[in-house]
Amino acid sequence: MTARIVPIAIPTPFPVGAVNGYLLPDAPVTLIDTGPKTGEARAALRRGFAGAGVPLSSLRRILLTHGHLDHFGQAAALAAESGAEIFAHPDDAPKFILSATLADLLLVFLRRHAVPEGVIPTVVEAFRSIRRLADPLPSFQPLADGARIEAGGVEWEVLHTPGHSAGHICLRHGGTLIAGDVLLEEVSPNPFLEFGPDGRRTPTLPLLLASLRRLAALNPADVYPGHGPPFGPAGPRIEAMLAQHARRQEEVAALLTEAPRTAFDLAGSLFPGADLLNLVLALSEVLGHLDLLIAQRHAEEETVGEDRVGYRRPAAPEEARPAGND
Ligand SMILES: [Zn+2]
Ligand SMILES: [Zn+2]
Repeated sequence: MTARIVPIAIPTPFPVGAVNGYLLPDAPVTLIDTGPKTGEARAALRRGFAGAGVPLSSLRRILLTHGHLDHFGQAAALAAESGAEIFAHPDDAPKFILSATLADLLLVFLRRHAVPEGVIPTVVEAFRSIRRLADPLPSFQPLADGARIEAGGVEWEVLHTPGHSAGHICLRHGGTLIAGDVLLEEVSPNPFLEFGPDGRRTPTLPLLLASLRRLAALNPADVYPGHGPPFGPAGPRIEAMLAQHARRQEEVAALLTEAPRTAFDLAGSLFPGADLLNLVLALSEVLGHLDLLIAQRHAEEETVGEDRVGYRRPAAPEEARPAGND
């Protein structure tokens, strides 16, 4: 049995355009992702429910793929209105409560990577102000990897797929995958800047690549992404994304010199003309590749000045170590 899935395109104020909410009209009636907390988004959702002949009051479950505002902004209001229960992965709990800590950590992060002082307040303020696009979710039912949940008349398997967001999940039923933002047809998901509970930056790109490889092995036939129309099968798209990441990594490696360059400087070379909104995305991507290059000993991190950090090509190539006997 396959689930009935009604995509609802919900407008967002972000450059990515509309986000997909997926209404599963069979019992228990379920909505996967909700759109941001705006009047237009709420109107689009109402039209979607009405078009499917499903009263909002019959909504029983709200499943959230991850803690980005365009995906969960309306969840609290919808739950209050319908009595639906909300389910999500606990690793995104700080995002669901709209923790102010992120903006503080972002400030330190931007300084460390040599973003000009004149620009930093604008970027941090942009991050603070977009929190208006969601109501905080102080509690929800936790979903762990491998959990099974009834939604829209069928049982879904929860796949924890971190990398774009720490608590990102996909939902799989047979050959159908609700993919959130980990697998999009037209854009590559960003290994978005993330901080662990200790405030340290999480290396997100290795997590994202591992999540993609896991999904490639499953090769679902029908992918319902967080943005854009359904597509499938997943395999060729994932191969193309992995190839694109490999090319990008070579580009970052080629930008390294023997003198350290900051991530801001490298991001400027890699993405000339990127605007402020995209600055954090660009830094996330560059640092993701630097994390991988450092792990492969193709790059080194070095403190520059008092509290900044730069990245350089290793002074001498690593001697190949003899195999075995370690
Ligand atoms: Zn996202
Ligand atoms: Zn998204």
